[in-house]
Amino acid sequence: MSEGLSPNLQHLEPSVTVAISQEAKRRQAAGEDVIDLGAGEPDFPTPPIPADAGIKAIRDGKTHYPANEGILELRVAAAKHLSLLSGGRPVNADHFVVSNGSKQSLFNACFSLFGPGDVVAIPAPAWVSYPQIVHLTRARPVLVPGDPEWGLKVSVRELARMLPAATGLLLCSPCNPTGSVYTHAELKAIAQWARERNVWVITDEIYRRIHYGTGPAPSFLDLPDELLARVVVIYGVSKAYAMTGWRIGLALAPAAVAKAMAALQSHTTTGANHIAQYAAAAALDDERVEQDVARMVAEFRRRRDIVVGRFRQALPGVEFVDPLGAFYFFFRVDSFGGISGTRFCTRLVGEYGVALVPGAAFGDDRWVRLSYATATPDITRALDRIVDFAKKLAD
Ligand code: PMP
Ligand code: GLU
Repeated sequence: MSEGLSPNLQHLEPSVTVAISQEAKRRQAAGEDVIDLGAGEPDFPTPPIPADAGIKAIRDGKTHYPANEGILELRVAAAKHLSLLSGGRPVNADHFVVSNGSKQSLFNACFSLFGPGDVVAIPAPAWVSYPQIVHLTRARPVLVPGDPEWGLKVSVRELARMLPAATGLLLCSPCNPTGSVYTHAELKAIAQWARERNVWVITDEIYRRIHYGTGPAPSFLDLPDELLARVVVIYGVSKAYAMTGWRIGLALAPAAVAKAMAALQSHTTTGANHIAQYAAAAALDDERVEQDVARMVAEFRRRRDIVVGRFRQALPGVEFVDPLGAFYFFFRVDSFGGISGTRFCTRLVGEYGVALVPGAAFGDDRWVRLSYATATPDITRALDRIVDFAKKLAD
């Protein structure tokens, strides 16, 4: 970073995922034939019920400052929704803070819980913004490498071995960038380890509904209360409800932490976009939207099967993580003559017009991330190009 800037920004790098998708859009606008499988953003429109609720909110004059912690309607809808997803467990609407996207929810949670001297464990590969957000709090992020034999997930044994002094843990399941999903038993073991060590857990469950097993992906909210005393659950509408541009995210936290996050937000953004909060409330509250979610998840599953099937058939032997959730396919490229993820992506976009994200963005440049949140014909065309390029590299 440039001289003269605050040490707050000493580790700051712009988001690679955002940059790649913006660059792909720029090239598409300039008439170039670039297929963007970089962006982790659903291509579907926002379902009509939340969209109409947003329009109605404008017409009803919900255009003033919102409450710092978010409108009651949305917090109640989120409590009911998350309770239903976890077998009817009680969820307290007063323990939510609504923010401008779950990215801000994550920032608020990290900033409220971590600071200088803290060590925050982040299972890796990890979404690009986690280490950055932890750095902004002046705590130290430590990437804990996941096990390739185990969907690149991290075990409690590994956490304990690498980070006896961890004060925080930032977990993501279903995982961006790998698509792997922690089981109930794995989450429980991690929660028990964290409780024994007084470690704060921030669990990013934004992809919970995009799960290819039965029902929603396992959640910390499926665990008993005594394991949740130092847990913040991050949720949101961007992904499963195709509402990225509305910028609404949620954090569910113990009362004192929720209060601190709302106070923090009272000095930064005042609160999340008032209009968009009504749209998000409709998304989580209106049962009919569930059919839209089910339709989109079924489409993601079809696309996942196309990607996995094509890799198995055309590039046998290429290692990848079995995608069980989210909409990412994470595959290894170093077997193509030792090429790095960064080089692979640079050449692929330059020579074949397909944008992917190098694993370097997530802490391991032997891998590359492909997002299948894009129209199926584009995925199929992009796969043809990827296979051609990979075969050329293998020659
Ligand atoms: N967490 C993860 C793992 C993500 O992939 C994203 C995508 N941007 C976010 C949080 C933030 O999503 P949003 O701010 O749109 O809610
Ligand atoms: N989360 C998405 C991704 O990983 C969107 C871009 C971002 O915010 O990082 O691609």
